[in-house]
Amino acid sequence: MELTEQIILLAKEIGFETVAVMDPKTIELREEVRAMCAEGKCNAYGRNWTCPPACGDLEHCRSVVAKYRKGIIVQTVGQLEDSLDYESMMEAGKTHKERFRSLAEKTREFCPDALCLGAGGCTVCKTCSYPEPCRFPEKAFSSMEGYGMLVSDVCAANHVLYYHGPDTVTYVGCCLLT
Ligand code: SF4
Repeated sequence: MELTEQIILLAKEIGFETVAVMDPKTIELREEVRAMCAEGKCNAYGRNWTCPPACGDLEHCRSVVAKYRKGIIVQTVGQLEDSLDYESMMEAGKTHKERFRSLAEKTREFCPDALCLGAGGCTVCKTCSYPEPCRFPEKAFSSMEGYGMLVSDVCAANHVLYYHGPDTVTYVGCCLLT
């Protein structure tokens, strides 16, 4: 079985609501997204090895992404009671993190140089060791946003629905393969 098909199967088994093929050539890395990270609203900017500026400047990220020829995109879609249902939002985010951690670990077994990008900074450790050396570089992964991707645009460019209707929340990740 071809590698992309194997990873797709794996992602479906893990339980993502959406699993689709993506073309790394559709990815644009944007200064505006990095500027949003720099606002520090999620408290990860300059505090986590997988987030800016530690994950590298945009030029570095572009040179990394340019190495990949294939990829898959995955989504966790959570159902909310209403638009203020913060608890369900957090729960879906936690589910996505767990699913994506499992996907990244298994994908790297098949393809050690895969680039796995989740949603939000790495949370393998309760508190990131930054600026001291990363404790688990083999488990850590950056986010699509941290690399400068506008997630909704990446979905649209790959014909993947991002908005799943009122009172839903969508978390996205991708694995790029050589
Ligand atoms: S594995 Fe731990 S130290 Fe390394 S980036 Fe993730 S949270 Fe930080």
